[in-house]
Amino acid sequence: MHRILLKGGTVVDSTGTRKCDVLVEGNDISSIGEDLPASRGVLVLDCHGYIVSPGFVDLHTHLRQPGYERAETVESGTRAAAAGGYTAVVCMPNTDPAIDNASVVKDILALSANASCQVVPAGAITVDRAGEQLAPMSEMKDLGVSIFTDDGRGVQDAAVMRRALEYASGLDVTLAQHCEVEQLSTGGVMHEGEWSSRLGLAGVPREAEEIMMARDIALARLARARIHFMHVSTAMSTRLLQHAREEGLRVTAEVTPHHISLTDAMLSDYDTVYRVNPPLRTAEDVYALRDAVAAGLLDAIATDHAPHAPEERDIPMDQAPPGMIGLETALGVAITSLVKREWLPPHSGNVSQDAEASEEGVRTAPIGIAMLIGMLSQQPAAIAGLDAKHGGRQGGPLQPGAPANITVFDPDAGWVVDPASLLSRSRNTPFAGMKLTGKVLHTIYEGELVYDNGQATR
Ligand SMILES: [Zn+2]
Repeated sequence: MHRILLKGGTVVDSTGTRKCDVLVEGNDISSIGEDLPASRGVLVLDCHGYIVSPGFVDLHTHLRQPGYERAETVESGTRAAAAGGYTAVVCMPNTDPAIDNASVVKDILALSANASCQVVPAGAITVDRAGEQLAPMSEMKDLGVSIFTDDGRGVQDAAVMRRALEYASGLDVTLAQHCEVEQLSTGGVMHEGEWSSRLGLAGVPREAEEIMMARDIALARLARARIHFMHVSTAMSTRLLQHAREEGLRVTAEVTPHHISLTDAMLSDYDTVYRVNPPLRTAEDVYALRDAVAAGLLDAIATDHAPHAPEERDIPMDQAPPGMIGLETALGVAITSLVKREWLPPHSGNVSQDAEASEEGVRTAPIGIAMLIGMLSQQPAAIAGLDAKHGGRQGGPLQPGAPANITVFDPDAGWVVDPASLLSRSRNTPFAGMKLTGKVLHTIYEGELVYDNGQATR
């Protein structure tokens, strides 16, 4: 039986913040309190100066298996997740074959048996993510699938989306939408604006996201269903969210680390690592997203971890697959951008330079560590149906009898992102060489130390 004593840390969860020790025995937390004794055979981890929180839950991970194993596998992706402090990841269905039926769900669950964190397959909304025929959500739900999306694509047809919302509502599962009107986005490789004109690259206007989001808010109202919006990227999208919330609609949303830290100016050197979907937007959008985080409008930070094998990078922008990895840098980028309010270091077109140019730039209030943990843990766990309320074991308070899914991190540690030291099979990080504040030290999954100071231990 695993026995681990977390000594002297500051525990932060949905019940508050307190200084105490946490003893893990077997799969669960056995006791919590001040000065717990370290009996023989117990692994003691010194947590003085560190935060001890519920394990992180990522709503948006591409594990690439089956079909794209050169970029990532369940094994490598969940190791990267553990290194990022995650004890559960929701894996996206745009695999080959797509996760659009019970047999692929079973395959992924089988591949995940010895993974370094819980793997929660997201089912596709439509067959082969083609946007036409509804996928058999019910048979996937019977295997525990609680969240459905055609991610990589939005459901283009409003009538199909309406039926999907009605069906999902009846099944009590979450529909998650990647908002993108393809009639406006096809051919675009970056945000449509001043930089795309300057660089001579085809753009994707903000409206490609906003029009589908507005449509789906209306459809959620019509179907009396709940809906989750993935990777929200524009200022107007946050206003649409606010409006839906004020109306009392059951709407949740996530934001990625890259959309709260990087801008479209990063593409000025034509480096394909900055191509992502939705694209990096302007500094104004970055500020609006940070404001929306501080206002509680964005429920979760989700990585959209999208690994690509190296040979997919050294090609022209219009042939490069969109996406960047993010599991191992999410905490550092979030603390640096939202909590410490240290702008990321100077880089061509980085927000820091825009901020200096504009008094408006530093208007957002910093958020606290407790709020950040809510966005990394409790809230995504609830959206994915992985919390205790839904019979799951993620995101809940650390207390005796609770599952030992725990992350220990140093909120003040500075570190420079070295792609070579990441555990993901891919290297396409936009944060290479950047200094981040906030580092994961230990991740405990179901009572086992699966990540320990730079090493995957499962
Ligand atoms: Zn997406």
